[in-house]
Amino acid sequence: MRRLPVYFLIDVSESMVGEPIEMVQDGIASIIKDLRTDPYALETVWVSIIAFAGKSQKITPLIELYSFYPPRLPIGGGTSVGRALDFLMTDIDSSIKKTTLEEKGDWKPIIFMFTDGNPTDDVDSAFYRWNQKYRNKTNLVAITLGENADTQILGRITENVLQLKNTDSESFKKFFKWVTASIKTSSTSISNTKQDGLLLAPVTNGYLSKIDLSKIDLTKRLPLKIDDNFAVLLAKCQKTKRHYLIKYQKRVAPSEFKEFNVNTLDYKLSGAYPIDNNYFDLTEGEQNLKMINTSELTGFPICPCCGNQYGFSFCSCGKIICTGEEEVTKCPWCGGEARFSTGDGNFNVTRTRG
Ligand SMILES: [Zn+2]
Ligand SMILES: [Zn+2]
Repeated sequence: MRRLPVYFLIDVSESMVGEPIEMVQDGIASIIKDLRTDPYALETVWVSIIAFAGKSQKITPLIELYSFYPPRLPIGGGTSVGRALDFLMTDIDSSIKKTTLEEKGDWKPIIFMFTDGNPTDDVDSAFYRWNQKYRNKTNLVAITLGENADTQILGRITENVLQLKNTDSESFKKFFKWVTASIKTSSTSISNTKQDGLLLAPVTNGYLSKIDLSKIDLTKRLPLKIDDNFAVLLAKCQKTKRHYLIKYQKRVAPSEFKEFNVNTLDYKLSGAYPIDNNYFDLTEGEQNLKMINTSELTGFPICPCCGNQYGFSFCSCGKIICTGEEEVTKCPWCGGEARFSTGDGNFNVTRTRG
């Protein structure tokens, strides 16, 4: 039996922490559940999941539908799209069966890539390698989640760039139904016609739109950048020694001074989330980090690990920790003991690359 490999290449950068990553996790589970009820898919589809942030990790190796167990997705720092593509290409080389004289190999893999941000690495060499050797042997569908991601840069590696405009749970549900329908039509078509073209389900209702790449100058190079739509800060719990991320979302706030009629930009707290230690396996080095001033931040969390009242306290070592009622505060980063003050004065803190 020839397999139809379906890859999910999933952005697990810090801006995905919280609700978005949970929705993607649920979405993957619902896709698999649904595909298992489809005889064509059950016969042909094999699934693999690769998560990428600063670095990439194979979460699920290519596996048949009935053995697939929906994984928990990790979170990492950075959005290295070039590295992710390199990782995928290496995996395709080792996991996909090639057609030989004796035997037909796998069908063309379908890759669904989800990303919510902009690449933080240099993509040129990976994109070149992809376009030279892999683009024609695969069907890549790149989907940007929300309106913050760079659709233009993805147009350099596939003609199928789609944008999921809103990232509320309703849109996500519809979107994952669309992914499921696209896999079903493709696997049905393969079974019936023995041709491995990609057949995407129709895009309706406006929640998802295909980007018209003919109107975009694909040769234009964009500078490396931090994902500017979120500010995500790394912190460590004093009691549990666990790491957590504090996530802020950029917003344009109406000015207090109406006579000036200007909008002030700030970052509003969206939540604080404990993270696993594999965060560091998926995070690229700390080079090129940008600072943010706490005066730009609105709202401070409690510690999501131990419930300490101040989830956003600074040690003199420059790191963020939680503090509460304890008499002596011991910094879990530097080991220093000190009394801590919260909320008075503004600090510059180092942002992760998101
Ligand atoms: Zn804590
Ligand atoms: Zn410290």
